[in-house]
Amino acid sequence: MIYLDHNATTSIAPEVREAMQPFLTEEWGNPSSSYRFGAKLKGVIEAARGPVAELIGASPQEIVLTSGATEANNTALHAALRANPARRHIVTSAVEHSSVLSCCRALEREGTRVTILPVDREGLLKLADLEDAIADDTALVSLMWANNETGVLFPVERIAELCRARGVLFHCDAVQTVGKLPVDVKRLPVDYLTLSGHKFHGPKGVGALFVRRGTPFTPLIHGGHQERGRRGGTENVALIVGLGVAAELARKGVDGYAARVRPLRDALEKGILSAIEDTKLNGHPEQRLPNTSNITFRGVELAALLLLLDQAGVCASSGSACLADSDEPSHVVRAMKPESAASRQMVRFSLGLENTASEVAAATGRIREAVRALRG
Ligand code: PMP
Repeated sequence: MIYLDHNATTSIAPEVREAMQPFLTEEWGNPSSSYRFGAKLKGVIEAARGPVAELIGASPQEIVLTSGATEANNTALHAALRANPARRHIVTSAVEHSSVLSCCRALEREGTRVTILPVDREGLLKLADLEDAIADDTALVSLMWANNETGVLFPVERIAELCRARGVLFHCDAVQTVGKLPVDVKRLPVDYLTLSGHKFHGPKGVGALFVRRGTPFTPLIHGGHQERGRRGGTENVALIVGLGVAAELARKGVDGYAARVRPLRDALEKGILSAIEDTKLNGHPEQRLPNTSNITFRGVELAALLLLLDQAGVCASSGSACLADSDEPSHVVRAMKPESAASRQMVRFSLGLENTASEVAAATGRIREAVRALRG
């Protein structure tokens, strides 16, 4: 198998797996218990929170551990709206992950006004559109850092500064950025920021919401006093430990990530674009993640191509795995308004630290063969 779908998920690092093991076997206590068998696990959770905070330049008290990015995104949107009942407007973009867009649609049905900013053909936002969209009743701007389907990067520093200047809270879904590019909330004036463990070799089902000190916050999930009253529910100690170790590994590796992955991504991209006719790169060619390449194969049935690639042992996707069961072309693709016939023919290749040059060479050959077979 050649795995080229790292934006969907990544393997669990051996160090992560090993660190989690005791908490799936003998250390099964409840961290909220008063006796030591359980209570000592509170310290274990705090020890894991440290590296998660450090990975993004936050302090541990600013980290709310969640069941993943979907929950963190929902939490941020709800928290911002509850902060001030007079502000009932959210600004977001047409290419956000479904965990933001579906949440916005649900809030809209309950009376929240939602402005969805368009993107251009390269997947970029116009900052002037954002400026125009912010109104007196805007509670929150929620924009992603890196797009999961195209890798296109929004200018989050400028967005954050603009929101700060206009007195509006800013939430950033940084799921695809954390571990791939440096993220530092000390330098980025963001109020809420989302990350997810399974995108940087941690386990699935665990993530975090950064909530800057002093930023309004109400829990989404009400329950016990866990997470200092910010997220009820007995902590999933094993997953949290795994997230901590993955965060530590990601912090150590992030500076070398682009240098390692970009040449492989570029080789794959060149191998496809130069050797297969009627192919086109989607998204801004420079302003994007170093690991992602989204390519249109004109005149090819996408489902058939993905099937042939699967049979040839190449894992790639048509976009977000969360929506892969849908027949619709991806909302990201539609927002970029490509020629309509081509909108179902875009394949996302997302590389990672485990890929090698020989894998890329083999994958390029298998992709060429699959396209040739289908066009033939
Ligand atoms: N946001 C983005 C940009 C994502 O790519 C994903 C994962 N597909 C999510 C949010 C949701 O993350 P999780 O799987 O942790 O809920």
